[in-house]
Amino acid sequence: MISVEEALGLILENIREIGFEKVDIKEALGRVIAEDVYARRNIPPWDNSAMDGYAVIVNDVEGASKENPAVLKIIESLPAGYISESKLKSGEAIKIMTGAPMPNGADAVVMAEYTENDGGKVRIFKRPEKGDHIRKAGEDVKDGQLVIKKGQLIRPSEIGMLASMARSIVSVYQRPRVAILATGDELVDLDEEICGAKIINSNTYAVGAQIQECGALPILLGIARDRQDELEEKLRLGMNADIIITSGGVSVGDYDHVKDVVKGLGGDLRLWKVAIKPGKPLAFSILNGRPMFGLPGNPVASMVTFEIFVRPAILKMMGHKKIFRPIIYATIKDDLKKKENRRHFIRASVQSDGDGYVVETTGDQGSHMMTSMIKANGLIIFHENDTAIKAGDKVKVMLLDRSFEYRKDAGY
Ligand code: AMP
Ligand code: MG
Repeated sequence: MISVEEALGLILENIREIGFEKVDIKEALGRVIAEDVYARRNIPPWDNSAMDGYAVIVNDVEGASKENPAVLKIIESLPAGYISESKLKSGEAIKIMTGAPMPNGADAVVMAEYTENDGGKVRIFKRPEKGDHIRKAGEDVKDGQLVIKKGQLIRPSEIGMLASMARSIVSVYQRPRVAILATGDELVDLDEEICGAKIINSNTYAVGAQIQECGALPILLGIARDRQDELEEKLRLGMNADIIITSGGVSVGDYDHVKDVVKGLGGDLRLWKVAIKPGKPLAFSILNGRPMFGLPGNPVASMVTFEIFVRPAILKMMGHKKIFRPIIYATIKDDLKKKENRRHFIRASVQSDGDGYVVETTGDQGSHMMTSMIKANGLIIFHENDTAIKAGDKVKVMLLDRSFEYRKDAGY
């Protein structure tokens, strides 16, 4: 058995980045950008007003106050989207809206709140400093500047930046196609008749959803019976995918043929059995030049090993720089015990409590128990060398999602 770190290191070493494709900006959310984006213009393009108010010459309004306002002649009202033709002269003001380019001659904007409009004149109650409420050309982005680095996840803010650079098409990493094959004589598929000693194949759908959650494309290969010929035939269908996944059939049972079949197809088994619970029998091979994961069949074991080993691999392939779930420290509410040797990933519910996090386990941790997975938003990491955790201890928790329930004392 090898450690989680060794297994992950070995897997990631074998992952190459996938190719690129061009997509419309409207389809780019959640993708990873495959090009460095350089600015093609200044943002803002010109000095402009940050406020609704009056563009003035600071010298004209020296000493202006509520009691002793400066009075200026309004020569124009300038909305955003228009350039003033005038050059401001002493004694004049231009009424200006947020975003309108600064008129020539003006060197400050006085907020409307500090003024009073009197027909053709404006009373100014406050002396501005030079440059007040002026957004300078290029102060956000300078023409030619690197604004988004290759490998960045495209979030709504990147979409906004791309749009302001007039980029309607952007180069992104492709979505890997990830084939998934369930194995087991006991399995029937969704909507098939279920009788006798059969159970429904749920792993295909849970793991398929995990693949989708990574932004990759699941290819469902269905179910293979625990017979070498059928396993081989079905596995061949997925051998041109970017990543191949099987569930079940990698343990030490009489009908666990996956490893042999992979070898028979020319695959190279790189690791089998990791010091982890759930998920010990995880196998990793190179098959047809592709990474291939043999996930254990127990539903939670397959999901947890996916989280820990497959997700980072898919994200790396997709060009992501941030491939790991966040790890936080939380105060645990339960006592936990285990033997040494394996690292346990314990389904748990974690909640922000104002100045930190609290965590509690979500029930029975059997690797077939989906209910405790449903309740979990994190996995407590119980290290292989430790045997006891006491209520009140700080423990490491890997977050499976990042949102917390609203609480008055832990809100914004
Ligand atoms: P295995 O790893 O093949 O020995 O399977 C371990 C356990 O997981 C057995 O109880 C299987 O019935 C169950 N199992 C295997 N594959 C699936 C699947 N696709 N969906 C639900 N349960 C499964
Ligand atoms: Mg099986």
